Amino acid sequence: MINATELTLLKKALDKLAEGYRGLPDFSSEFDAEAVAEVLQQVATRMHDNFPYFHPQYAGQMLKPPHPIARIAYALSLWVNPNNHALDGGRASSAMEKECVVELGEMFGWDGPLGHLTGGGTMANLEALWVAGRLHPGKRVVASDQAHYTHSRISDVLGLPFSPVAVGSDGRMDLDALEALLRAGNVGTVVATIGNTGLGAVDPLPDLIALQSKYDFRIHADAAYGGYFVLAGRLHDNTRAAFDSLAAADSIVIDPHKHGLQPYGCGCILFKDPSVGQLYKHESPFTYFSSAELHLGEISLECSRPGASAVALWATQRLLPLVRDGEFAAMLDDCLYAARDFWQRLQESKHFVPLMQPELDIVVYAVDAPNSREASERARAVFAQAAERDLHLAMIELPVQLVQGHAPGITANSETITCLRSVLMKPEHRDWLDRIVEILELSAVEIA
Ligand SMILES: *Cc1c(COP(=O)(O)O)cnc(C)c1O
Repeated sequence: MINATELTLLKKALDKLAEGYRGLPDFSSEFDAEAVAEVLQQVATRMHDNFPYFHPQYAGQMLKPPHPIARIAYALSLWVNPNNHALDGGRASSAMEKECVVELGEMFGWDGPLGHLTGGGTMANLEALWVAGRLHPGKRVVASDQAHYTHSRISDVLGLPFSPVAVGSDGRMDLDALEALLRAGNVGTVVATIGNTGLGAVDPLPDLIALQSKYDFRIHADAAYGGYFVLAGRLHDNTRAAFDSLAAADSIVIDPHKHGLQPYGCGCILFKDPSVGQLYKHESPFTYFSSAELHLGEISLECSRPGASAVALWATQRLLPLVRDGEFAAMLDDCLYAARDFWQRLQESKHFVPLMQPELDIVVYAVDAPNSREASERARAVFAQAAERDLHLAMIELPVQLVQGHAPGITANSETITCLRSVLMKPEHRDWLDRIVEILELSAVEIA
């Protein structure tokens, strides 16, 4: 779990950091090392009560370990603890944040968007819908019913009406259902989920863009989970087309703390048109302005923000540039490969019925049974049995019709059905599939 080299690298970087402050009179904070050590032992013990998120046998929820460079750079910055609210709080880390944001924009084909890091995808989506609401006051926000639940909740916070749009059996937004809503009028914003959190399905963005010629609405792309796959080489054609159209959206959210190898606390909002920055205008009574330049606190709803997140992301983007055909893109392709291979193996299994073919790296599968109630019970039993064998999965509750589109053998005697879900977001999953499938099959036999 721990690679000692990381600690050596951190110490070396800390020594370099200290050089920058050598001119100051000597000062270091004193603390009772013994007392601290004792509490830290308690902390480490308490932390045993976690699933092993960092390990390839954790193949459940959307959790991915940060890259060592992100972990080290984040820790390093804590000895200065910059605040990216304003330049006075963190000059270096604010500059790093701006550079990261430019590169994230370029990844989607944008030249100089307005944007900044946020605490996560929720805050980033809040800003996107807040701007959308300022530009289309009182108008409806719509998103697929597989979109992240945050959109309906944020719309509620902002006082904007919200409507869900049905999805097809592929998990993507249904265009007829969307057009019916658009025809009814008063839709200000359509949220396109570019990789939904449950199924990994990608909404048909090119079709949404085509609808803009008939109806007047903004497009917000929620690519919190899926955004980085724009760099992948192995996408299927429809999926590729959606990613290639991202530049035509009005705003994009991406979470570096999902697929971007960052510690939690790192989302990002990007606006294509930088002039929306005016909407953030405020009069700060306690002047932070040590420079005439627009600072990040003026274009963010959050005030204090961790400079550490920007430092970690900057370091990661230096080491693993956001380019197609690069090392980072290859890691994403490994995840795509793992998901497709896993889907194929489940297809061949006697015990499992995989649902839609994965567009990204999420695989959802039912446990075969005569009816939906029994399938749900079996899914919960396999989940528990696999956990006994140190294989950690996730569960998802889906409308029974959606599942029957893929598993017609399971008759419906309930409205929803519990399925298993694995987010194969570690490149190592590719090499661990034999073992993962073996444990799954054993677990299915065990519960039969
Ligand atoms: C994770 C996720 C969110 C919420 O982001 P947080 O970083 O958890 O706040 C929103 N939308 C999508 C598509 C997501 O996957």
